[in-house]
Amino acid sequence: MNNFGQMIERGHERICFHHDADTGLRAIIAIHSTKLGSALGGTRRWHYATEEEAIFDVLRLSEGMSYKAACANLPMGGAKSVILLPKSGVPTTEAEARAMGRFIDTFSGEYIAAEDVGIDTQFVDWMATETNHVMGGETISSGGDPSPFTARGTFNGMKACLRHRGDEPTFEGLTVAVQGLGHVGMGLCRILHAAGAKLVVADINDACVCEAVELFGAERVPVNAILQVPCDILAPCALGAMIGPEQVKRLQAPIVCGGANNILVDPERDAAALHAKGVLYAPDFVVNAGGLIWLAGLWLGMGREELDARNDAIEHTTLEILEESRSFPSTHHAAIAVAQRRFVEGPTSERETAHAG
Ligand code: NAD
Repeated sequence: MNNFGQMIERGHERICFHHDADTGLRAIIAIHSTKLGSALGGTRRWHYATEEEAIFDVLRLSEGMSYKAACANLPMGGAKSVILLPKSGVPTTEAEARAMGRFIDTFSGEYIAAEDVGIDTQFVDWMATETNHVMGGETISSGGDPSPFTARGTFNGMKACLRHRGDEPTFEGLTVAVQGLGHVGMGLCRILHAAGAKLVVADINDACVCEAVELFGAERVPVNAILQVPCDILAPCALGAMIGPEQVKRLQAPIVCGGANNILVDPERDAAALHAKGVLYAPDFVVNAGGLIWLAGLWLGMGREELDARNDAIEHTTLEILEESRSFPSTHHAAIAVAQRRFVEGPTSERETAHAG
């Protein structure tokens, strides 16, 4: 499908290409929606095999950010940016980051950038030397690494899953399988361990696995076994597109609730297949919104108490969507419907949000 075709089908407002002659930076910013407010979304730095792949990625990711913000009840839209590397492994430079910052600044605050795959808080702060419209740095911009809040939100999503199945939202005696022990996965393990859960873990990086075994008494399994482990909850916290038809067939967990983005290969198809198998799938963009709530909330001027209440409200939102999914082919379809309703009606009132926790 051509670019306009993709934009129209997904409902994008704007997609901008930028080339900086001095640094060679090639970047794209995609604004999916500003119906609910300015759009916050990370900057991904990646080597794409083709330009079409980069466009597909930025359109898909920015659309997802609109749904994430709407379900999190934030008065924010959805956007994302990508930096196209000529080959993988090209080191970051301050000049590149500053060129990206100048590109972001041309949006006059309609787009607010943040960290994503391939960049770190230093890169974020370099971008912030050229624009005020960046979140997630440690020196020039604020917010820092949002992953502890993503982990906490995912845990809140798990509580909703347990409630929806008629269980108490307690973790003592439960087994949770965690795929990926990076920023989010390790943070989630810490919370689950403190709550009394037994952990089964896998990561391609052995050092992370050793850390989880030592700190949390986790049981290690090979990376190709983690998705089939018999457990109470499966938490994919690595990269996206981990669960497709083959994995759905072999899954042995009654609940899938993880922090990764785009867990399902084809969300509509795979969520419906999980539903048909009787597996409760917590839509990823609903339960992993804790990091966005943190950065967008700070951007909007919220204090710590409100930020915490909004993270806790992920439990209520997830439960609402799971309940509503009874009249949809899957929980993913129900979550999209909730987001689309908010595009029209706006976020639920502040009063309701405060009671939602
Ligand atoms: P990270 O890079 O710190 O961690 C990812 C981990 O997954 C790494 O330890 C890596 O070795 C491991 N991994 C990669 N492939 C694997 C495989 N096949 N099997 C097992 N482990 C594998 O990233 P992160 O910040 O923890 O993010 C993890 C996921 O959560 C990503 O999908 C990200 O998009 C999503 N997410 C992150 C945040 C956040 O606040 N950081 C917010 C929302 C969503």
